Amino acid sequence: APARYATSAEALHTVFGYESFRGNQAAAIDQIVQGGDAVVLMPTGAGKSLIYQIPALVRPGTGLVVSPLIALMHDQVDALVANGVRAAYLNSTQAAPQRAAVEGAYLAGELDLIYVAPERLSNASTRSLLQRGTLSVIAIDEAHCVSQWGHDFRPDYLTLGELGTQFPGVPRVALTATATDATHREITERLRLNEAQHFVASFDRPNIQYRIDPKVEPRKQLLAFIRSQPERSAGIVYALSRKSVDQTAEYLRTQGIDALAYHAGLDSSIRAAHQSRFLRDDGVVMVATIAFGMGIDKPDVRFVAHIDLPKSVEGYYQETGRAGRDGEPAVAWMAYGLGDVVQQRRMIDQSPGERSYKMRLGQHLDAMLALCETVGCRRQNLLGYFGEPSGACGNCDTCLEAPDTWDGLVPAQKLLST
Ligand code: ADP
Ligand code: MG
Ligand code: ZN
Repeated sequence: APARYATSAEALHTVFGYESFRGNQAAAIDQIVQGGDAVVLMPTGAGKSLIYQIPALVRPGTGLVVSPLIALMHDQVDALVANGVRAAYLNSTQAAPQRAAVEGAYLAGELDLIYVAPERLSNASTRSLLQRGTLSVIAIDEAHCVSQWGHDFRPDYLTLGELGTQFPGVPRVALTATATDATHREITERLRLNEAQHFVASFDRPNIQYRIDPKVEPRKQLLAFIRSQPERSAGIVYALSRKSVDQTAEYLRTQGIDALAYHAGLDSSIRAAHQSRFLRDDGVVMVATIAFGMGIDKPDVRFVAHIDLPKSVEGYYQETGRAGRDGEPAVAWMAYGLGDVVQQRRMIDQSPGERSYKMRLGQHLDAMLALCETVGCRRQNLLGYFGEPSGACGNCDTCLEAPDTWDGLVPAQKLLST
């Protein structure tokens, strides 16, 4: 496709209707428009999509987007088409004639963007198709999926490192909201982005208040927490098992909360209906496993609650990050008990897999424990985990209410003073 817009700013205004770029969006876009590679670490909701969509509109050729979730792909393509962008996808949900039409449009240079599922891209035939057309940029979204030790590993992502040699001269960009140093390094190495410029935004979400309570009667505590929130607040409650999701949703309903369940064991039509109610109506509480949330763009989620311990700080950050995307005050609340720790250690021990893998899972859990057990600022601990130094935040439970350290402190002080 010939370039459709002379400048990034023109594409931003005309296609997306936005006034100005946010944070380091503009710098990352410039780098790619000029033909350089980029690694982009920005929190969810920061606006990573524009970082590859705009170069695809400004540079001649078609932008290739690798994206792991078919639902996400469909949403993005629909939104782009609604904005007049010539976007399409190739994935396993398509019938052959549909696919052929997309391939034809690509080869004719009639597409601005083509979204491809990673498993399609591992096919030699897909790669040779792409080689017969012209790419403007290669974007690898959710790039942390390349990390074997991360929480979302996709084997097909491992082959994406070859794209640099298969499409020489095409700028590549890897994007993720998972930000540990280790993941960052792994993305850069495995995707062979040695020459890339790195764009790292602050991961702080200052409008989210972090609260972690000792777990005693989680459902009752959850109910009390929800009732303490402004009436008809939309929220997400995460639980570990499908059974717990169903029971918790049921319990909340009996207590007059407009709660719905969401997990992979539910019929897809029920899941779709619950999701659309959550998105459309005010004040729906979605009780869900972590199957719910990726790609859900609801700006006014007022709280995210965990009644079970997340397996990693990365997971906790992603899940709590779904609260308060509109920048208005929001709460991340969790009930934390040692029982969860014991159970998760057992699960790790009993899981198949190599020793080194289990060790990694154990380390993820340890970091999560450190966040739960800290008497210091939660946000400082969280951001510190992602390598970002910060001071005490004033907007978490430990900052707002000095933790209950009397039990330990008083006897210690007595001992010291004798
Ligand atoms: P991410 O992939 O980083 O989670 P998205 O690309 O999905 O974020 O963008 C999140 C939201 O922010 C979208 O609704 C998007 O349209 C909006 N957005 C992105 N950039 C801007 C901007 N410069 N000005 C206003 N809104 C923006
Ligand atoms: Mg995104
Ligand atoms: Zn704090």
